[in-house]
Amino acid sequence: MSNADIYHEMIIDYSRNPINYGKIEDHDVTFHDSNPLCGDSIDIDMKIDGDKVSDIKFHGKGCAICMACSSVLTEIAKGKNIKDVRNISKTDVLGELGLENLQAVRIKCALLSLKVLKSALYSYLGKHLEDSSDVDKLKEEAASLY
Ligand SMILES: [Zn+2]
Repeated sequence: MSNADIYHEMIIDYSRNPINYGKIEDHDVTFHDSNPLCGDSIDIDMKIDGDKVSDIKFHGKGCAICMACSSVLTEIAKGKNIKDVRNISKTDVLGELGLENLQAVRIKCALLSLKVLKSALYSYLGKHLEDSSDVDKLKEEAASLY
């Protein structure tokens, strides 16, 4: 099997059996966003302990690429401290699934969950941090993803 085939299989597999799929009822922060072009619609719930994302789950519906990237992203973020989660880049997510050269029209499918995650952190930190300039930077990061 070529690399492209392996990645394709991974995407199909994640879309059928997404990981970290579900809700966290006692979440500390939740955020929703959608990609109307494709119909992807994702919520991310996070539990934050001190400066660590102790649990993260997503729910909603999306195409195979959206579900696969949400699975991979939540797996990367789970257990990490907020600083590291903030630094998760689009290449981190796309690289896991060999999607670096994804067509522009599908990039929103792949990065919707990262946008939701950054927006959720923004919303959380906005309520918990004194220094709002730092938080505004995060908002810009989320807005400039695609
Ligand atoms: Zn999609």
